[in-house]
Amino acid sequence: MRIEYDIKLDFKDVLIRPKRSVLKSRSEVSLVREFRFKHSGALWKGVPVMAANMDHTGTFAMAKALAEHDLMTAIDKFMSAADWATFAKKHPEAFQHCFVTIGITDQDFDRLKDILRQVDVPFICMDVANGYTERFVDCLKRVRDAYPSKPIMAGNVVTGEMVEELILSGADIVKIGIGPGSVCTTREKTGVGYPQLSAIIECADAAHGLGGQVCADGGCTSPGDVAKAFAAGADFVMLGGLFSGHDECLGDVVEVDGKKVKRFYGMSSTEAMERYHGSVAGYRASEGRSVNVPYRGPVNNTVLDILGGIRSTCTYVGAHRLKELSKRTTFIRVARQLNEVFMPYQANGNKT
Ligand code: 5GP
Repeated sequence: MRIEYDIKLDFKDVLIRPKRSVLKSRSEVSLVREFRFKHSGALWKGVPVMAANMDHTGTFAMAKALAEHDLMTAIDKFMSAADWATFAKKHPEAFQHCFVTIGITDQDFDRLKDILRQVDVPFICMDVANGYTERFVDCLKRVRDAYPSKPIMAGNVVTGEMVEELILSGADIVKIGIGPGSVCTTREKTGVGYPQLSAIIECADAAHGLGGQVCADGGCTSPGDVAKAFAAGADFVMLGGLFSGHDECLGDVVEVDGKKVKRFYGMSSTEAMERYHGSVAGYRASEGRSVNVPYRGPVNNTVLDILGGIRSTCTYVGAHRLKELSKRTTFIRVARQLNEVFMPYQANGNKT
């Protein structure tokens, strides 16, 4: 057994120090980034924020709404080839911002082949809770061999050496985050995890050294956290809780104690496993929770709120473009980040 004594930081442990700037207004800030991906060579241009590949947020309705602002959506694992074909035909522009998500079973690979035979989904997301297994790496190599020109995002991991291994095995983008999610219980159930801000800083450094990218996945509870993720070096940021509870999310609006809510659950929760696999397998624990989140109407206002926040961050540090944000950032460690007397944002990202 060993102990690392370096302090690892979370979003709440830091603030971004303001800097002198010649920017006059937030409207001068561009959040558009352009990437040419390492393995696939594909070019992408847009605002690098995406909806999580959870069944609640990774919907085609979400993809359509987010694409209006050039944001992306990782569609959940449960859409069939027919669902994809219908969407691609109806909304060809929004389709260009989508990831098809798979796990690591043979059925997942067959499903991927089936979908890509019928529709040319631009991005692949290989998503497992634990990206450290040899099986995951083997599976990534197999997908890379089968689809050399498709950008592949793979994860999740939280340490530089595994980021390097995934990039060397074919990933263009590595997804970062173990345990930070709003409906994740991995840390309670297993004691495993890594504070998300430090994970992003260390993993971005490893990925950029090899010409790859990272996507910070999980733990953003406010627009300020999204800005901190970019400031820490994330190329993309993935959001679940912050995009939950909207019209575009899966599930009906129901009334509980006089309040309109939608059901939101982790993809490893008992609720998700019962829904998609019939039951929780006896050898595993549920590692996600279920919550009722306040209903928040169309996602458009939330998108504007988040993008407005990041633009403002850029103005405070004098970054004309999102790309410059991390170079212009000095984080300061703080003992208190927010005045919570009126709790403007809750942990699940919902305004009270
Ligand atoms: P959020 O933005 O809500 O904080 O985090 C979203 C991320 O949480 C997802 O993209 C995914 O990586 C992670 N996540 C989703 N469901 C579960 C779950 O049931 N268990 C765990 N451990 N993580 C989850």
